[in-house]
Amino acid sequence: MAPDCIFCKIAAKEVASDIVYESDQVVAFPDINPQAPVHLLVIPKKHIANIGEIGSEDQDLLYQIGEAVKKLAEQYQLEDGYRLVTNCGTAAGQTVNHLHFHLLGGRNLTWPPG
Ligand code: AMP
Ligand code: ZN
Repeated sequence: MAPDCIFCKIAAKEVASDIVYESDQVVAFPDINPQAPVHLLVIPKKHIANIGEIGSEDQDLLYQIGEAVKKLAEQYQLEDGYRLVTNCGTAAGQTVNHLHFHLLGGRNLTWPPG
């Protein structure tokens, strides 16, 4: 756990959040500033700054993220489609330095993103 990391605190349940999915290495919760009718954040419990910091020891963790996304897409009835986004670094708009995947759906999503 990294000191002063809000997502570490949410994963550790030190900060209240509406956790909608949990496995031993992953949690998901609603984004505080939703950009779509469904906007969840899927994160590892372990502090990893961004996708560029993933290591070979994180293989199961990445599988668990995939499994979380699949189950959440079913749970939120996103069979028409959804988007999974991770911002890496300031130029991409990363504001929280704990790896997170935005799961967006419930409306038609345009491409390319801004
Ligand atoms: P990013 O800009 O890709 O780093 O995304 C960070 C996301 O975290 C933003 O969409 C914020 O709205 C969201 N966020 C920040 N703090 C919280 C929080 N306490 N609970 C839920 N979502 C948060
Ligand atoms: Zn963290």
